[in-house]
Amino acid sequence: MQRYFIAPEQFGQHTVTITGEDAHHLLKVMRMKAGDEIMVCDGLGRSVLARLTSLEAKSAEADIIAEMETNGEPMWKVTVAQSLPKGDKLETVIQKCTEIGAAAFVPFQSERSIVQYDGKKEEKRQQRWAKIAKEAAEQAHRSIIPEVSQVMSWKQLLLRMAEFDLVLFCYEKEGAAEGSGIADVLAAFRNTHDSSREAAILLVVGPEGGFTVHEADEALAGGARLAGLGPRILRTETAAMVGLTCLMYESKEMGGA
Ligand code: SAH
Repeated sequence: MQRYFIAPEQFGQHTVTITGEDAHHLLKVMRMKAGDEIMVCDGLGRSVLARLTSLEAKSAEADIIAEMETNGEPMWKVTVAQSLPKGDKLETVIQKCTEIGAAAFVPFQSERSIVQYDGKKEEKRQQRWAKIAKEAAEQAHRSIIPEVSQVMSWKQLLLRMAEFDLVLFCYEKEGAAEGSGIADVLAAFRNTHDSSREAAILLVVGPEGGFTVHEADEALAGGARLAGLGPRILRTETAAMVGLTCLMYESKEMGGA
């Protein structure tokens, strides 16, 4: 069933209003008519089944028929902190990690980030990233749209680490080191944290040039755990997907009692 994310203020007592590109998609792409049913989400966890009552070019109205169970959201809220990669790789990371179950994204700059922050382009990039997260969330039948924050500096990211139950600093130098594989780190975390309870986890991935030793030391000092993702060197855009999948697997989000 087609799913649309709309702003909470577009929810009425008994109806929802769909506007803009979503209304256009309904009418022109999906060729929907009055009486058809859709799933509508507010992006914050509320999902309703709604029946279309009127469709115009720029807006559509639908009656709320039922509140839907919000599923599709992992218990472990994983924020993916990705050092700004070249080209459109961040768009790939946002799309794929939204499908896998990321709760939010924090693009940041580290010492070897090739792409430097460019205030002028920032607004446009933010809009594009938000659009990719929304479309991926709709396609994946998520109940929320992962937020993509403003680009942060390394220092700002360090300060945010204290907010999380677990910070995984993906470091290929630990890739094969004994006891510091992500499986070991997660097994230790699961011993202290019940995977049936919510957890706020930060997954930190470096740029194409990797992290400096100094950054690894600062991350450790900030409470992060170094995590290896195996002895093979993953591309920056692959690492977040792999780390996130390990987390989803470990917290039973892929089945398993
Ligand atoms: N320095 C690497 C390239 C960095 S890969 C090289 O020698 O070519 C980009 C980022 O992906 C790294 O900073 C790290 O965060 C993550 N990564 C890649 N492979 C990894 C591995 N095997 N274990 C842990 N992290 C890895």
